[in-house]
Amino acid sequence: MDELTFLNDRLVVITGDITEQKVDAIVNAANSTLLGGGGVDGAIHRRGGPTVLQECREIRRHQYPDGLPPGRAVVTGGGKLPAKHVIHTVGPIWRDGKHGEMETLAEAYRSSLNLAAETGLGSIAFPAISTGVYGFPKELAAQVAYRTIGEHLKRRSLPRQVYLIFFDEGDRRVFLNSIKQFL
Ligand code: ADP
Repeated sequence: MDELTFLNDRLVVITGDITEQKVDAIVNAANSTLLGGGGVDGAIHRRGGPTVLQECREIRRHQYPDGLPPGRAVVTGGGKLPAKHVIHTVGPIWRDGKHGEMETLAEAYRSSLNLAAETGLGSIAFPAISTGVYGFPKELAAQVAYRTIGEHLKRRSLPRQVYLIFFDEGDRRVFLNSIKQFL
């Protein structure tokens, strides 16, 4: 598969299944309950197995009894996944763009990257957070993701390698077309 790299080769944009990525952490586009759901969340919990869910329950109990707020991130082990860790973050539900959706999406990327850096992780793979059931326009989400990752990589040496994983080639095309203005 052709790989496309950006930001001094520290960002790689590929098509694939995030549950198959052998990286230090994959990011889960979770919901506030942290107890699993559909889409990428369901796929990660299915493949990761019961220990991931158990750790999420512990985090709910001790840190976030009311749920993980949108824009925040927490880390668990990867269970049976090839990835060593899962960073769970919650993206915004798209309403009309006037409810801070852009900032909350940026915050979800930022929190995940900062947590990876603080945990000493060298590589991280993101799905296209909020662009499924949460309805965030893909073009806009691409621009937020690219800019936020770029800002992080300028400031910090970890994670050294960031992957954006698109579930299908069409979504990857949309991403590539949407960030052309930043290149
Ligand atoms: P959200 O609720 O944040 O919108 P979804 O899981 O509905 O989360 O969708 C987020 C993105 O993840 C979508 O673009 C969807 O196509 C993609 N996706 C779903 N399953 C996978 C997977 N196994 N690997 C990578 N991306 C996935």
